[in-house]
Amino acid sequence: MALYVYKFGGTSVGSVERIKAVAEKVKNAHALGDQIVVVLSAMSGETNRLIALAKEMQAQPTEREMDVLISTGEQVTVALLSMALHELGCEACSYTGGQVKILTDSSHTKARIRKIDDSRIHAHLNQGKVVVVAGFQGVDEHDNITTLGRGGSDTTAVALAAALKADECHIYTDVDGVYTTDPRVEPKARRLERITFEEMLEMASLGSKVLQIRSVEFAGKYNVALRVLSSFTDGNGTLITYEESPMESALISGIAFNRDEAKLTITGVPDLPGVAFKILGPVADANIEVDMIIQNIADDATTDFTFTVHRNDYHRAKAILAQTCDELGARKVTGDDSIVKVSIVGVGMRSHAGIASTMFKTLASEGINIRMISTSEIKISVVVDEKYLELAVRALHAAFNLDQGGTLAQP
Ligand code: ASP
Ligand code: MG
Repeated sequence: MALYVYKFGGTSVGSVERIKAVAEKVKNAHALGDQIVVVLSAMSGETNRLIALAKEMQAQPTEREMDVLISTGEQVTVALLSMALHELGCEACSYTGGQVKILTDSSHTKARIRKIDDSRIHAHLNQGKVVVVAGFQGVDEHDNITTLGRGGSDTTAVALAAALKADECHIYTDVDGVYTTDPRVEPKARRLERITFEEMLEMASLGSKVLQIRSVEFAGKYNVALRVLSSFTDGNGTLITYEESPMESALISGIAFNRDEAKLTITGVPDLPGVAFKILGPVADANIEVDMIIQNIADDATTDFTFTVHRNDYHRAKAILAQTCDELGARKVTGDDSIVKVSIVGVGMRSHAGIASTMFKTLASEGINIRMISTSEIKISVVVDEKYLELAVRALHAAFNLDQGGTLAQP
């Protein structure tokens, strides 16, 4: 007998019919004799609707009250699913996160899970019941309701799977797995049979929005076998694990991209100790996240400094930088908010040379100018003009043969 945690996202429980379809699926799996815990999101659009309601009361509601409000969406779906299961003759019991109990810290709207008391769940499972748990929420040590950040039901599911030592955690969503890239950009994108946690983390943080990043970190830390599957069609989905498949050792696993980028440059900066801090300190103080950073080698005792920020922060960052420019006696500030980041990701590049050069050659042959480059052990990112995004993704997808299983690493 195996124990599974199944998580269904907002679209999978977006209507009465869909909740009934989920119930059918859960009942059939349960009938095979496995133990099943189900974690649900709110109906699609519900969390946004609740947030909009709050804004009509107050421009800045307290985060504590926000959590009391936005945790209700999940309470609705777990009760409805439990009823739908009863209707099918399947014993089930629904719980809020606080009842389970999922204990978190007190950082409202972005709480972290500290501990899970799984005794109640085990007791029900041992009686042959399906346990349905509201995702996205917990309680702090004073029993205040907390939520785990947008998309947090993924993290609830993984955390429960870790606590219960589940055999696998299945994330049912509206896509049938993790793809080599976004199929809306490259229709030849292929579903991956498996991907490592590290690769998935890079793909997720680089803008592939299949899973909440924190859930992948959690799964990696506790070695929870995580599978992404479609709630609407059958199939194996994509398994996220530690093991690299010996059969599928492609050089590159996928291409991720991020459209919401902007870059800023300050030129003619005196090349003195502390300058990087003087430039980025005020940006950090304004709570603006900086991604790529490049400082040139100094020529004539001055240097250029470029960094990227989220496009929404562009104008704010530029104003801050203009002030820093005056203070430092630097030459000028320039910027561009119509850039994108395209990255190739793969553990295969750790042990193989020539991947960066293949990437650069491919972009060059399409006439795409690279504005910035950054690398880590398992990824290479370039910044290019927004208008080249689709072309860059498709050209790289072809260059690394991703539509045919990827260019295989030579042993
Ligand atoms: N309902 C929450 C949200 O929309 C949590 C989730 O769906 O995972 O962010
Ligand atoms: Mg989600």
